Amino acid sequence: MTTPMVHARAVRKSFGHLEVLKGIDLDVQRGEVVVILGPSGSGKSTFLRCVNHLETIDGGAIHVDGELMGFDASGGRVRHLRTREITRQRREIGMVFQQFNLFPHFTVVRNIIEAPVGVRGESRGKARERAFALLKRVGLEDKAHSYPRQLSGGQQQRVAIARALAMEPKLMLFDEPTSALDPELVGEVLATMKDLANDGLTMIVVTHEVGFAREVADRVVFMDGGVVVEAGAPAEVLDNPSNPRTRAFLSRVL
Ligand code: ADP
Ligand code: MG
Repeated sequence: MTTPMVHARAVRKSFGHLEVLKGIDLDVQRGEVVVILGPSGSGKSTFLRCVNHLETIDGGAIHVDGELMGFDASGGRVRHLRTREITRQRREIGMVFQQFNLFPHFTVVRNIIEAPVGVRGESRGKARERAFALLKRVGLEDKAHSYPRQLSGGQQQRVAIARALAMEPKLMLFDEPTSALDPELVGEVLATMKDLANDGLTMIVVTHEVGFAREVADRVVFMDGGVVVEAGAPAEVLDNPSNPRTRAFLSRVL
């Protein structure tokens, strides 16, 4: 059996006295698309941030591609990784946020080549070549020299996706990528994400877009109160949830 891309076991995280993750177990296989659903405050963003080293965990362990991420408190052992190790691992994980976080004073193409050139030391020529290919992939070739403010929210989010892909991540994390968009712009971003899924990219997507979950996810995970309440095939979890908390949540969002 191949190692999963993400292997999270008994992951705990507190902010002060507030316990936000209360023992999360989750595996994501290579090429799999996992959609995480759950009410606001259930710990979805915190979990993604732990996978990407934006938070350190207090208990349990997370492995990405077989490598320990940051901290392992399982079995009474505690292991911290060195900062250099963390920086290297983070480069291999792409993250897309609700707020697109583009550099406003950089053109689209400059936004995309910034990390490959600045962090990875790629030549500008090579980075630009890939940036244009990525812009084509997200349908924005003609916007390469625009500034973020000249783009719609949906276009900005597609640039943010291209920027994340420019680092050739082995795993992409999406945290409510369409929640800040006007309703008519949601579809173009979801279509881009669906393309990536079809290309075999490993993705964890936090979203309230149940239609996307149904159509694109290999597995749907329902989180509530810092635990995974239910997980399974989209049809199982969305149409035939076994847990009353899942049912209550779905009746609110559907
Ligand atoms: P979700 O993404 O499911 O809405 P979050 O992971 O953002 O949930 O938040 C879970 C809980 O953790 C919330 O109660 C939130 O207020 C709290 N929380 C998140 N980040 C922090 C932080 N940096 N400091 C303190 N509390 C936080
Ligand atoms: Mg969130």
